[in-house]
Amino acid sequence: MPESAIARCHCGGVEIVARFPSRFCAHCYCESCRRTHAAGVVTWIGFPRAQVAFAKGEELLRDYLSSEGTHRRYCGRCGTRMTFESGRGKWAEEVHLPLAVFATPVDRQPDETVFAEERPPWAPFHDAG
Ligand SMILES: [Zn+2]
Ligand SMILES: [Zn+2]
Repeated sequence: MPESAIARCHCGGVEIVARFPSRFCAHCYCESCRRTHAAGVVTWIGFPRAQVAFAKGEELLRDYLSSEGTHRRYCGRCGTRMTFESGRGKWAEEVHLPLAVFATPVDRQPDETVFAEERPPWAPFHDAG
């Protein structure tokens, strides 16, 4: 198993290296994820902030404050959603990345489902515990 994985936006301008071990991998059905990603479900993988570094393109990122203290950054060129960071609670020291942007394998599979109560009836359901 490699020691890290590479996440990349669609245009390739932004590349992030996330070093293992990750902390969790979860399907999220919350309304904020649904709207900001324009998707029925967003699968996140979380890492301690110190294990996440930009290989390139950090300057391309735009920052959207989706709620107080919650930063969702995306590529300003292609629009790919790249990071979620929140100053609140247990996530304060973490960076979450959508599993969908990884170009190389990560160290875990989704093993959690959160905000299932906000899932719209049309969204695919992934029961991951
Ligand atoms: Zn891009
Ligand atoms: Zn969410």
